[in-house]
Amino acid sequence: MINATTRLIAVAAYPVHHLRSPQALNAMFVQAGTNAVVVPCEVRPEDLASFIYGLRGVGNLSGLIVTVPHKAAAAALCDQLGPQAQAAGAVNVIRREVDGSLTGELLDGLGFVAGLAAHGHSVQDRRVWLQGAGGAASAIAFALAQSKVAALTLMNRSPDKLAALAERLRVHHPQLRVEIGGEIGAHDMVVNATSLGLKFDDPLPVEITAIASDALVVDIIMEPAETALLRAAKARGLPTHTGRAMLDGQLSEIITFLTKTG
Ligand code: NDP
Repeated sequence: MINATTRLIAVAAYPVHHLRSPQALNAMFVQAGTNAVVVPCEVRPEDLASFIYGLRGVGNLSGLIVTVPHKAAAAALCDQLGPQAQAAGAVNVIRREVDGSLTGELLDGLGFVAGLAAHGHSVQDRRVWLQGAGGAASAIAFALAQSKVAALTLMNRSPDKLAALAERLRVHHPQLRVEIGGEIGAHDMVVNATSLGLKFDDPLPVEITAIASDALVVDIIMEPAETALLRAAKARGLPTHTGRAMLDGQLSEIITFLTKTG
């Protein structure tokens, strides 16, 4: 039951209708008997700074989960950043410290790799095609680099974000082969980390017929659970992996981070 000692966790997104983390985390809190509640907050990009500024003064707030389209903008609004957030320039979770200061970190990448592992997919020595260069793609790129993939190829709609991500990766992981574009068919894992697939009339994020016939096709979108990309991959007989596993992989990391004292 929500009472005066309940810890609050806000989730900032725009829009909010596709969010799954509030339900999943609230169910975990009920099961564990934790007196905390996760509340979805629909925040337009132009209102993010004032929203986060206001939360600094909320004493019973443990923190904030940040998702589309706020991850990069929210990093700039934190007082300090953890190592993953610093490297990627984005956050997906922000802890409110007792003095009201805000510590941001990016846990999605860790969750992505953990989610694949939970379904028996190792990323080590894979040649990965990563579509997207936003907050989630950045986090995944850094986690893949740490997890010793053989090579990483990046592609994105906006070339400036694509080049910036490639550059950050090369600085932090000089040993990794990072390429921009090329033959998607030369990869054994294809990951959609764009927002394409959230809406029913979105085009496919990649050319499905060009993917190698044994490649694992991964989508990080959670709603719909099976995106048009995954349906098309299945129709071609390719193995697939859904976005839900990435969320499951990072929920416990989020709770641990938010309940830590900075
Ligand atoms: P961002 O807003 O940071 O990035 C969005 C990405 O999608 C960018 O690469 C952007 O390209 C691309 N994109 C958006 N619209 C289009 C379009 N019309 N055509 C081509 N590319 C497009 O969002 P996030 O990185 O945080 O999230 C991306 C997706 O991942 C979301 O759908 C989110 O729901 C999902 N997600 C899932 C998680 C999970 O646990 N399963 C965790 C986090 C996110 P550009 O740079 O050109 O704008």
